[in-house]
Amino acid sequence: MTATIIDGKKVSSELKAALAQEVQQLTEAGVRPGLAVILVGEDPASQVYVRNKEKTCIDLGMHSEVHRLPADTPQADLIALIEKLNASDAIHGILVQKPLPGQIDEKAVIGAIAVEKDVDGFHPISIGNLLIGDEGFVPCTPAGVIELLRAYDIPLEGKRAAIIGRSNIVGKPMAALLIRENATVTVCHSRTANLPEVTREADIVIAAIGRPNMVTAEYIKPGAVVIDVGINRLPSGKLAGDVDFESAKEVASAITPVPGGVGPMTIALLMKNTVESARKALASRQ
Ligand code: NAD
Repeated sequence: MTATIIDGKKVSSELKAALAQEVQQLTEAGVRPGLAVILVGEDPASQVYVRNKEKTCIDLGMHSEVHRLPADTPQADLIALIEKLNASDAIHGILVQKPLPGQIDEKAVIGAIAVEKDVDGFHPISIGNLLIGDEGFVPCTPAGVIELLRAYDIPLEGKRAAIIGRSNIVGKPMAALLIRENATVTVCHSRTANLPEVTREADIVIAAIGRPNMVTAEYIKPGAVVIDVGINRLPSGKLAGDVDFESAKEVASAITPVPGGVGPMTIALLMKNTVESARKALASRQ
């Protein structure tokens, strides 16, 4: 079988092109979508992520603010900055880049973000809204997976989906989103017994583990769709997903590569959430 390679670069570019138009319309109507990113400390990977977010904002015509704080910033100062951004009319989305230094309680920081500006979708109220089926921001990576599946017309209703990984940022919200799409969902994790047997039952396998090339052909039912969320840096410096792409593509009907699959969707969805927040800000003014 020749698997369709799901092209996240292409889908994310199309999404960003549509967003750029919307940004222009909103700006003309008096609300230019604005994203504030806060980086505490100098983690090299975080610096790259923050620069990418800033660049994407600018490419789309959005207002971008990056607040770089020293690694020893007290929690109270960080929260005071968030409160200032919560009150700012120029800012529609606030993102605090993780990981945070040890003196800062991540939960307290996320909880300080105004829910209507929580474009990362990590605030407990946003997660609760997702679970009970109310409107709200959805974490960008799992939302990006749904957009990719939609872009390729992959049916979800009545299908069996297996997610490997139960993190708060990927696995759990992914499960909630697939339930919302009427899939039948199994969430697997490090204690799941007979994992390949479980995932072989699934029409869609989503890997969010953080272990390079773990999911081989043996985990996949012939014809299943395979989505690889993993981003792992190998000792050689090369990037690898959680899926062994070469063996999995021989049995899958469609599969995402790493890089170029889910990765580019995450940032596009962050922009989409920010634009949506700006749209709501405009509507509340009118
Ligand atoms: P995490 O470490 O928080 O969670 C990993 C999950 O995998 C856990 O729930 C654990 O139970 C499960 N797990 C670990 N070993 C396992 C095993 N042997 N068998 C079955 N399950 C196992 O990780 P995360 O934050 O959810 O990220 C997962 C991966 O996705 C990482 O590679 C990360 O870099 C990547 N990621 C990518 C994006 C993106 O934009 N594409 C965004 C977030 C995370």
